[in-house]
Amino acid sequence: MSGLRPWQELSPGGTIRPTDAEKPKTGSWRTGIKPLADLSKCTNCLLCWLYCPDSAILLEDTTFVGFDDYFCKGCEVCAAVCPVGAIEMVPEETETPAGWVMRSDESGS
Ligand code: SF4
Ligand code: SF4
Repeated sequence: MSGLRPWQELSPGGTIRPTDAEKPKTGSWRTGIKPLADLSKCTNCLLCWLYCPDSAILLEDTTFVGFDDYFCKGCEVCAAVCPVGAIEMVPEETETPAGWVMRSDESGS
């Protein structure tokens, strides 16, 4: 056995509080496509919220309302997991149609 110490003997790591963390605009390097949702099809199962790797699903209380342009990277996971086909990936330059939601907030808060 090597001389590695068990985890109980390791020094504690650093801690970053949410208010200390930088919030880089990951949406600025999106893949060239973005998700749009047809809210009339949405059953609010929240699978998109559960699987989104970058917290880019917007909720109002517990209701899905759209996407956060500041963080969304266009990875397509939300569209892949949506069980009712409510999410469509479209070219970045596509205008947001009426009734579909896309938040763009420079603050990232
Ligand atoms: S494409 Fe969907 S899953 Fe991927 S970062 Fe954007 S909102 Fe999240
Ligand atoms: S996965 Fe689809 S049905 Fe479920 S909350 Fe998201 S958009 Fe709505």
